[in-house]
Amino acid sequence: MNVPEMFGSMVFNDQVMREMLPKKVYQSLNHTMIEGRALDEDVADIVAAAMKEWAVSKGATHFTHWFQPMTGITAEKHDSFLTVDKAGCVIMDFSGKELTKGEPDASSFPSGGLRATFEARGYTAWDPTSYAFIKDDTLCIPTAFCSYTGQILDKKTPLLRSMDAVSNEAVRALALFGKHVKRVNATIGAEQEYFLIDKSDYAKRLDLKLTGRTLVGAAAAKGQEMEDHYFGSIRPRVKAFMADLDEELWKLGITAKTEHNEVAPCQHEMAPIFDNANKATDANQLTMEIMKKVAERHGFACLLHEKPFAGINGSGKHNNWALSTDTGENLLDPGKTPEDNAQFLLFLTAVIKAVDEYQDLLRISVANAGNDHRLGANEAPPAIVSMFVGDKLNAIIESIVEGKPFKDKSSSSHLDIGTSVLPKLALDNSDRNRTSPFAFTGNKFEFRMPGSSFNIACTNVMLNTAVADALKDFCDELERAADFNAALNALIRRELEQHRRILFNGNGYSKEWEQEAERRGLSNYKRTPDALVHYCDEKNVALFGRHKVYTREEMESRLEISLDEYQKAIHIEAVTMSEMLRRQILPACLRFSAALASAVQCKEGIGVSAVADRALCAKVSALCDELLRKIDALDSCVAQSPAETEQAAFYAADTIIPAMEDARRLSDSLETCTDKSFWPVPTYSDILFYT
Ligand code: ADP
Ligand code: MG
Repeated sequence: MNVPEMFGSMVFNDQVMREMLPKKVYQSLNHTMIEGRALDEDVADIVAAAMKEWAVSKGATHFTHWFQPMTGITAEKHDSFLTVDKAGCVIMDFSGKELTKGEPDASSFPSGGLRATFEARGYTAWDPTSYAFIKDDTLCIPTAFCSYTGQILDKKTPLLRSMDAVSNEAVRALALFGKHVKRVNATIGAEQEYFLIDKSDYAKRLDLKLTGRTLVGAAAAKGQEMEDHYFGSIRPRVKAFMADLDEELWKLGITAKTEHNEVAPCQHEMAPIFDNANKATDANQLTMEIMKKVAERHGFACLLHEKPFAGINGSGKHNNWALSTDTGENLLDPGKTPEDNAQFLLFLTAVIKAVDEYQDLLRISVANAGNDHRLGANEAPPAIVSMFVGDKLNAIIESIVEGKPFKDKSSSSHLDIGTSVLPKLALDNSDRNRTSPFAFTGNKFEFRMPGSSFNIACTNVMLNTAVADALKDFCDELERAADFNAALNALIRRELEQHRRILFNGNGYSKEWEQEAERRGLSNYKRTPDALVHYCDEKNVALFGRHKVYTREEMESRLEISLDEYQKAIHIEAVTMSEMLRRQILPACLRFSAALASAVQCKEGIGVSAVADRALCAKVSALCDELLRKIDALDSCVAQSPAETEQAAFYAADTIIPAMEDARRLSDSLETCTDKSFWPVPTYSDILFYT
């Protein structure tokens, strides 16, 4: 296999553009892409013609505007290149207009009340900063999705806006250090966790098919306690899947790099090489889609839900984040020289301030029904946002705040911002705190709260904008300063002192931390609706308004969509659970108890002891009686759900979820005492320990 040749072969990338476009057109497009400038309109026709020629040569017959509506998944509507010319001949055609603008009938996408039905049509606009690619014989053009009145209806547009915001302010900040760059990009590496299970098991479970997770299921005799799956040797079937996945991703220009087993049985991870936030987000959306498709081919179902199985780890998506200049400098790299140290400390301080001031937004960006099973449940980071910077950096921060010279045991260097060299910071794993939700890992931050099924755009919108805001404040102050060094020292010290409460190096899973965090005034929103209702807090509306990322109306619509999505997810789970219990599990247990009852009768009729049959029959029957009561209770809970969205969301969390937990407990008890041949669905042992 010639990987370099295969890599990106289905992408209309820089190399293809350079080859196929006239020099002037290429340069114009390139400026747009590198500097995030607006696209020159007459360039579009020429680019479209080249794109079509390239796509047709690769066997494509259709094109689609590929966009990311608020559903969290990607959407596409295919049109063929086919046109009939004046002479009545069929030709393949693709115009600049078709490339740059689409008008999908998008009335069925969630808009949170932004779009009245009379103007239901939205439009999609080409995003030339992410490459077009071919998937399933279709040329896919990454696009933004807006309403006719210009309000945003997707996840990409705010991401692009937040990238501009953080770039503008970071460029300003660098100028203070005498560095003049044109653009600073947020860079993202998204590590994707997933489960692979046998397709035939999946097909037999209504809960997996409709909700993505198992709603009932007693624990298998073995879980993850032996710690033998993490980085363990990979099943040949899974290895074949991974090889195939790599190939598919590479063709699409996605830099799949690391593949390994994760902690839970059947759990795996794929990490690509990082890229700018926009491309990394598109790549991750595509990765999730391709994972599911490739899994099918290998007789697997790929589960991207945050918590497919109770009692073992769920899946997350670590969002590695840094800032990088167009000249290739990583602004979160501590560097080797004093000048870089001061600059690094300013950016580090900006991130600390951003995470502290907008901890609620970060929590909100990872809130959904699935992730509520992870956050705070002793496996993933807790629901409290805090930062881990490592012992050494922590000591440096403390010495700055306390105004004492920093004494590094290993090098005994003194630290006075901007005048001496920072000690070398450990880049290795040993220094990492695995329980921290937001950890500095040498030259980037790793945000570990996002769930595996999330579109990472939202998290990065929050992060980029919050950091942009901190940098803006810093620049406003420092640009006015008479003595830059003195002002810089004072600012860093003051801000670190003010925001150090967000730093925490201990065990994030412990009860003590919850209490300590409360003392520090950090927020702890345990469930999705608890977090979501803070989205439109005045300070958040003001933040996004200042940086032109969202208007108030756009935020209100997003809040409505998220609350609605949450309550619908729980509703679907409850109804699915009820159906499985009523129509599969309870009847199976009743059949089993009836068989036992007949056995008791037969055996006693011939004078044989039936003590075990009788005891088991009584136990199963009693549990069945109780289960039926719980199913009835669950159904009546669901029926009483309020109509208003926010009320429905809280009702789901307060009332429906506990009713589901009650019913599950009984079903799982029944499972442990029912003859397996009667059990109607594959069990945890069947699913997790397939061969
Ligand atoms: P681990 O599992 O130990 O966290 P991985 O190697 O699996 O580490 O993942 C680290 C991720 O961080 C990769 O996707 C990598 O490309 C990404 N990364 C590395 N440097 C940066 C950076 N400067 N900005 C953003 N992401 C980065
Ligand atoms: Mg990681």
